[in-house]
Amino acid sequence: MNVAIVTVGDELLVGQTVNTNATWLAEQLTDRGCRVKRITTVPDRTETIAEVVGDYQTAYDAVVVTGGLGPTLDDVTMAGVAAAVGRDVTHHEAAHEWLTTHGGYAAAELDDGTTDLPAGARMLPNEVGVAPGAVIKGIYVLPGVPSEMKAMFESVASEFTGQQVYTQTVVVDEPESALLERLKQADERFAVSVGSYPGEYVRVSFSSTDSEAVAAAAEWFEARANLRTDG
Ligand code: ATP
Ligand code: MG
Repeated sequence: MNVAIVTVGDELLVGQTVNTNATWLAEQLTDRGCRVKRITTVPDRTETIAEVVGDYQTAYDAVVVTGGLGPTLDDVTMAGVAAAVGRDVTHHEAAHEWLTTHGGYAAAELDDGTTDLPAGARMLPNEVGVAPGAVIKGIYVLPGVPSEMKAMFESVASEFTGQQVYTQTVVVDEPESALLERLKQADERFAVSVGSYPGEYVRVSFSSTDSEAVAAAAEWFEARANLRTDG
């Protein structure tokens, strides 16, 4: 499956909140064999959410959206997602039912829009918070609070499938610029994706759905590079 991640929130765009949700989701989806094609952050603005989510819903098999589900004025994600698929946001009976039974809320406390979801959506209960999530036309709408987002993603994780990608990483004690020719050769010789990530050392990664090709490429490269020796 090709998947896009959309994180919603003005606080992300001004650097006030570290976007750990995007990183966590990307890792989970990749581990499940999905290809994450986009990670995009958008402001708390209905039209922008609708535009981006709508484009991704057309282009990819699934879209995972997080943030902006609460009852406050700046929480407009459900409206944006509904607009993306041409639906209204309406009272959702299953959400109301879940919150008044399992959630322990009185019906009167729930007249703030908390139980409104895009018409026709499947409700995702929020096991560790309040605001429910939703699934509609391959768009998975999850809360922004990381603990709530994780618990809700886990409840739908099995819906995200794909072919496992294998990766091996070789840590090299040479400047990246010295490796260019060998990286190019590895890329040409083996049916793998070659990545080079400089830092204190250069981490060279080989990835493919074919684990044998990955092992062969890593072995070939290891035999031709100065490896890090301090562990
Ligand atoms: P609530 O119902 O509490 O309002 P929500 O689903 O509306 O939840 P947001 O209002 O978008 O979520 O975010 C709530 C908090 O969750 C933020 O203040 C921030 O601390 C955290 N958060 C939101 N988005 C992210 C993200 N992408 N990565 C990490 N933390 C996030
Ligand atoms: Mg909120």
